Amino acid sequence: MKYYSTNHQTQPTSLAEAVTTGLAPDRGLYMPEQIKTLPQDFFENIQGMTFQQIACRVAENFFGEDIATDDLHKIVCDTLAFDCPVVNVGGDIWTLELFHGPTLAFKDVGARFMARMLAHFSKSAGCAEGKGDVNVLVATSGDTGSAVANGFLGVDGVHVFVLYPKGKVSPIQECQFTTLGRNITALEVDGTFDDCQALVKDAFADGELNAKLRLTSANSINVARFLPQSFYYFNAYARMKERGLAGNLVICVPSGNFGNITAGLFAWRMGLPVKRFIAANNANDVFLEYLKTGQYSPRPSVRTLANAMDVGAPSNFARILDLFGNSHEDICKVISGAAYTDAEISKAITDCHKTYGYTLDPHGACGWLALRDNLREGETGVFLETAHPAKFKDTVEQAIGESVTLPSRLEAFTHGEKQSVAMTAAFADFKRYLLDNAK
Ligand SMILES: *Cc1c(COP(=O)(O)O)cnc(C)c1O
Repeated sequence: MKYYSTNHQTQPTSLAEAVTTGLAPDRGLYMPEQIKTLPQDFFENIQGMTFQQIACRVAENFFGEDIATDDLHKIVCDTLAFDCPVVNVGGDIWTLELFHGPTLAFKDVGARFMARMLAHFSKSAGCAEGKGDVNVLVATSGDTGSAVANGFLGVDGVHVFVLYPKGKVSPIQECQFTTLGRNITALEVDGTFDDCQALVKDAFADGELNAKLRLTSANSINVARFLPQSFYYFNAYARMKERGLAGNLVICVPSGNFGNITAGLFAWRMGLPVKRFIAANNANDVFLEYLKTGQYSPRPSVRTLANAMDVGAPSNFARILDLFGNSHEDICKVISGAAYTDAEISKAITDCHKTYGYTLDPHGACGWLALRDNLREGETGVFLETAHPAKFKDTVEQAIGESVTLPSRLEAFTHGEKQSVAMTAAFADFKRYLLDNAK
């Protein structure tokens, strides 16, 4: 299948090219040329299938023309080495827990899938071009870096450079990408997250670097990272159908760059019987404003307790527009929005814990609130719980007045030895470093 750019200024390209370059040359985001509807009998029998079986079938729909079935199934099964269960929180509100992966956040799914797909294409495409490894550059304020680094750890033919702002990520986040070694290099930048992001952007735009090295991104602009996120929406439906509760399903997604909810919309386009979606935001509410006014006005982000959603210019907005042919009216038929302040997020964590005994993380709290406030008579709501509450220990403990224990696999990172390379925020230094050290 071919992939076209949302800016329509370049020729549609292959999956391999879309995945190994990330962004299209015209700076647009890649979209698959077709979104094939899955057959009726798939949905009729889905409640009897496991998550892995469902994901394999969905993956074939997207990638079946480009990757041999056996290879694709292996990529999917290696990715989904953990479950994404549905749990009742209280009343008509359920949650799809996406935090059972190695770094306890939903980004594990996309990162692990992308790593394996990149390794697959790196083997086939690398020799032909005469270049070496695929080099993944990722700027992080914390969470993305850990998911990508762990997802790519030990994957042949791929090297990851994680750029993070010195002193500005939490110690537990830092040790998740600085202690790994092998094909993961952590670069500690003397600057802010924006400086890190600027270094990565400049590298992608640099002619000399791109002539000598294969560079790609691993954030949700990459089709290999965001499309696999559609798998677990089908699992949510299957597990609710199993319980006889899939009739009027509303899915609510705590959103930042809107990659996760876009994957849900792809699932819906493939025929998943979801009634509607809700995008839950923190104080960074440009999407909600767009829904209300039809005007999209990106602006600098503000810091909140749900910091993985502190995004002022959601990168996947272009994909949502494209999916709905730029129709504000059609978007509003399927997606509504809600936004919450830090005080509301904190109170939600307290209330949900007190009333139902379920511990939310600050991102999931926005999802829970949006369902509590917007669910209509006869509807069943499922929000995506995007991170384990222990990842936001201080906020959560303060809200519930109890301690939260760090799962042992996260705790294990804290015993590793930090290895990172000091870097200035000057592009010339970063470029020199890559030319000397990347393969
Ligand atoms: C990345 C992230 C989000 C936002 O997801 P998008 O795909 O960027 O909308 C929400 N919650 C957590 C915990 C995250 O790490």
